[in-house]
Amino acid sequence: MRVIDLSLGYSHGMPAYGTSWYKEVEIRPLMTPETDPTGHGRRFSQFVLNPHNATHVDAPSHFVPGGKDVSDLDPGLFIGPALVLDLTHRGLYEAVTADDLAAAARGLMRPGLRLLLRTDYLDRHWGDPDFWQKPPYLAPSAADWCVEQGAVLVGLDFLTEEPGDRAFPVHRRLLEAGIPILEYLCNLKALTGPIVWLMAAPMQVIGAEAAPVRALAIEGGGPYGPA
Ligand SMILES: [Zn+2]
Repeated sequence: MRVIDLSLGYSHGMPAYGTSWYKEVEIRPLMTPETDPTGHGRRFSQFVLNPHNATHVDAPSHFVPGGKDVSDLDPGLFIGPALVLDLTHRGLYEAVTADDLAAAARGLMRPGLRLLLRTDYLDRHWGDPDFWQKPPYLAPSAADWCVEQGAVLVGLDFLTEEPGDRAFPVHRRLLEAGIPILEYLCNLKALTGPIVWLMAAPMQVIGAEAAPVRALAIEGGGPYGPA
């Protein structure tokens, strides 16, 4: 069995979407071995997390009034077989369309599968000052395809929306259909098979519209592992 980490981790001062209301991630020591009042040398940390900064799940309530919060979602959505779609021919500023997804699926898509959409954009360009301005992105037709095909989760390593599109059609289509979006994946190039076992449950943050995820793929389960 091989476990592949698909998560972009949270770290203090990591790159953040460049707008005035977007908070940077803070991970600060609350107590150090030197300041422990008991003299036992303990460490405590404090996290100020904007979940949307690194690998995370968007729940319907991110866009849909009255939609499910991340804590209301069935955890089974995040654990199970996932189909990996190779879209690495799509580069900067390019839309990933329904036709791209259908071609990459090569007839393997089935209702109830999770989708992992791979362009390697995050691996190649994370940290670039114009990261949010130049990505490949999902066309609305691609969101329609995911809904029509019965995907239960859509994960991707590029941007969900076309930069500058303030109507957010892809988020709306997927989240209105009850399909959570697993954003800011990385390392999809390490996967060898078209179908992997995914474990990508979000932190149980009650009433939140999104939460951090440790996204892991498992290949080669063996008799006690995933089928
Ligand atoms: Zn998000």
